[in-house]
Amino acid sequence: MAQAQDLRQAITSLAGRPGPILSAYMSVNADIPENQRRAYLVRLRDAMNEEGVPEGLQQRVREYTEDETHPEARTLAIFAEEDDLFEIYRLQVDVPESFRWGDPYVAPLTLVLDEYEPYGAAVLDAERFRYFVVSPLGDAGPEQEMKANGFREVDVHPSESPPRGGTDHDAASRRTEAHIHHFYKEVGELIRDITFQEGVQRLILAGPRERTAEFRRTLPNELHDRVVAEEHVDVGAPEGEILDRLEAVRERAEHEREKELLDEIRESGVRGLDETVAALQEENRVYHLAVLWELEAEIRWCDNDQLAIREITHEECPFCGRKTRVRPLIDVLVDLATARGARLDFMLGENENTDTLRDEFGGIAGLTRF
Ligand SMILES: [Zn+2]
Repeated sequence: MAQAQDLRQAITSLAGRPGPILSAYMSVNADIPENQRRAYLVRLRDAMNEEGVPEGLQQRVREYTEDETHPEARTLAIFAEEDDLFEIYRLQVDVPESFRWGDPYVAPLTLVLDEYEPYGAAVLDAERFRYFVVSPLGDAGPEQEMKANGFREVDVHPSESPPRGGTDHDAASRRTEAHIHHFYKEVGELIRDITFQEGVQRLILAGPRERTAEFRRTLPNELHDRVVAEEHVDVGAPEGEILDRLEAVRERAEHEREKELLDEIRESGVRGLDETVAALQEENRVYHLAVLWELEAEIRWCDNDQLAIREITHEECPFCGRKTRVRPLIDVLVDLATARGARLDFMLGENENTDTLRDEFGGIAGLTRF
């Protein structure tokens, strides 16, 4: 399975390629009406024609995508060059559709990585335990089935059988409680390993309240800090319902994470295009950027120095004297963040966080080291 780390490396190597390169983010989500009868193949063909992608490359891309009768993803991200590069990523998130022939376009991939951290969700009661993982790169292994909202179920096999049929009183009940405790302890250790393997940073515990609380107490220390929510859920509910609840919890937790980032920036950060780009590019002290996804600004760029030129009228680079060009700001931010090792969080949609970022911070802000 592709890991977030692989994708980070891909972004770095793609962003540095001179091009021309085809960058395509194609919606293949079967739940979207526009994708019925694989209508996205038509959109792909039209877009490649419009962008002037060379015929040989068009054919390779078409052959690949036509063979994919069930892409099992919401978005296919395709990067291809005429010579050898041909990379496809299956994303379990909906990304605005775009097709580009020219400079590599990795901003949406960065968005996916930072916006959607892998989450683990432990669903349990006294007798049952299930573990789900949702990650933006949802390439499921051969034995894993992709479920609703991009969740995969990971098999956990404790050696001890889950306790069954306890009564509510006397010695039998005490034995059962001890049994449950052992069961949770073992499962907790098993999911610690899975959690590290999958790069899960944030854990959701779901089930009857007294059980999730107990499970949390028995969790290995390394996992304690990763619990972001305990959700009261009836484990006997239909699976689709449980997964919808988990997705709602995940979204709430992400929203909270973004809010904390903005609060921190307000305390000690930079804001606005000019100040933020200067701190990122010239002072190299921004380590986490928050950027409004719909930010439609442009900025000058010197290819020779790989620097943004903040004076939009400067057709010649003030540093090397060569010709500069105008690029979409989003692309430039991805390049700079990649080169400076800053994390980039795009925020999208209409909510309290995007309001703050737009109205208070001018659409772009950053957390600084010093
Ligand atoms: Zn220059």
